[in-house]
Amino acid sequence: MHNTVSKKALILRAAAMAVSAVFVALALTSPFIISAVSHDTRPVVVVDAGHGGADGGVMGRRTGVKESELNLKVAKLLGEYLTSGGYKVVYTRRNDTMHTYPGVSNRKRADMFKRGDIINDAKPAAMVSVHMNFYSAPSRRGAQVFFDRNDEGGRAFAIVMQDALNRDVNSVGGGREYGALSAEKYLLSCSPYPSIIVECGFLSNPFDEENLIRADYQANLAYTLYTGIVEFLNTET
Ligand SMILES: [Zn+2]
Repeated sequence: MHNTVSKKALILRAAAMAVSAVFVALALTSPFIISAVSHDTRPVVVVDAGHGGADGGVMGRRTGVKESELNLKVAKLLGEYLTSGGYKVVYTRRNDTMHTYPGVSNRKRADMFKRGDIINDAKPAAMVSVHMNFYSAPSRRGAQVFFDRNDEGGRAFAIVMQDALNRDVNSVGGGREYGALSAEKYLLSCSPYPSIIVECGFLSNPFDEENLIRADYQANLAYTLYTGIVEFLNTET
């Protein structure tokens, strides 16, 4: 990648050199410069694996695989790509669990509120929530991206991500291409940061289900999500 990180680092270095040139006689300037360039400037990406614990999400029509399990696998693979690419990754969950929340007894609401807090605390450049879809008609297949209609960054992010998925996933193997869609979801509206939900495929479709349970397909999918994030963040800066 070394897109935003290196650009920012280069700008910082250039600024540092300019300051040094002007104030070369003032030794006092150097401690400031050293501290300025030593901060962690990696862009933060929140990776949310949908569902978990008692909330398994949807189930594979043929295999009975739990959505929550596949979401976590894809989320962790995505996180590994992002970390290797120089991003700081914050996960909303790393295990098969639901969060609790003070004063909230409804387990799903409590889990959502905690995830919302994690996103807001992380102040990410982007948030991606990983899910698997299900539809009554088994013929429906492919990956779809959702954004909140009041989130302009989310809309731009969703369009870039949907294009990446259309290119790498939906146009391959007989699927159809989609446009990014708006949706009213708590995780899309709970923070001011560009946020999307990716429904990676339909567990109600036999082809998608067969693909989504395979480790190599999960890795390819995670890589496509990674490229979508990088592309979005590069166009933002
Ligand atoms: Zn889901």
